[in-house]
Amino acid sequence: MGSIPKSIGVLSSGGDAPGMNAAIRAVVRTAISAGCKVYGVQKGYHGLINDLVNEMDSHSVVDIIHRGGTILKTARSEEFQTESGFKQALSTIEKHKIDGLVVIGGDGSFRGAARLAQAGVPTIGVPATIDNDVNSTERAIGFDTAVNTVIDAINKIRDTATSHERTYVVEVMGRNSGFIALYAGVAGGADQILIPERPIELETVCEKVVLGQQRGRSRSIIVVAEGFHPAKLNSAWVPGNAGLSIGNYIGYKTGLDTRVTTLGHLQRGGNPTALDRILASRFGYRAAQLLISGVSGKVVGLEQNQIAVIDIEKALTCKKSIDDELYQMANVIAAI
Ligand code: ADP
Repeated sequence: MGSIPKSIGVLSSGGDAPGMNAAIRAVVRTAISAGCKVYGVQKGYHGLINDLVNEMDSHSVVDIIHRGGTILKTARSEEFQTESGFKQALSTIEKHKIDGLVVIGGDGSFRGAARLAQAGVPTIGVPATIDNDVNSTERAIGFDTAVNTVIDAINKIRDTATSHERTYVVEVMGRNSGFIALYAGVAGGADQILIPERPIELETVCEKVVLGQQRGRSRSIIVVAEGFHPAKLNSAWVPGNAGLSIGNYIGYKTGLDTRVTTLGHLQRGGNPTALDRILASRFGYRAAQLLISGVSGKVVGLEQNQIAVIDIEKALTCKKSIDDELYQMANVIAAI
């Protein structure tokens, strides 16, 4: 427990996620209602280094709960990881007499927050990433919205896939984790779900498509996370191009009319869902309360629908694992 903050800062950092605005709103309103000053830092750690700091009031966060993106902007800052950049960030914090900071972002942002906490700046992390790969929480802000965006796309692709009796490979975000692919694949009724955590051979993917055809399924929908790679790499595999590699391979091996859709950055945008708005509000509210009561070096998270408070270092120690039961279930339910 440190000293009680009289003014707190809030920033969003790393990849943007729908619901960050709802979290900012909750932080600002909670701090103001507790009699604290609130400073908004623009563009994450870049803004700390370059003094992009403005005082916020209750009106600064009017009409933002429903908006995707982040009114504070977000950025990645290599400079923050240098000694001189970090010192510069500390001097901005000192200049504005900011007593504590809420950092809204993913794992990378939390590493920065941990460093600040070690340097004596009280810091609380709020997990926000569409990839949902933050270990401290069952669900991060933005994940639910991204999953719903992908489901909407799969629904539309299904219409055309069925009409033309085609095989569709839908590539979704997730460089290191398959959460979006798995959840959207299950909810969208995908025939196959390919994730980085469970590499399988491309031959097996083709066999399943062909078996489906033989049993009367005239179209296939395969959802693949961008970070998937086959169990055995072959010359058809183009690193960094999972969807295209799989689509080309299926077309070449099976002769079936196969198309690839890469959803890309549209998965980051859009109005946050009710679940994300509520989660972000709960996280922001709790994070501000923790800072105000003098807590530092923690991350908030969701655990069995309750807000948990975890050591930031602990949150960063291991990789969040995929829900194996859900993965197994998806394979059974999609059985040909
Ligand atoms: P995310 O928070 O979405 O995981 P990044 O991994 O890009 O996004 O991290 C966001 C920012 O956090 C980086 O640009 C950098 O400024 C800061 N950061 C990342 N790792 C560290 C680290 N080890 N030490 C200090 N700051 C870091």
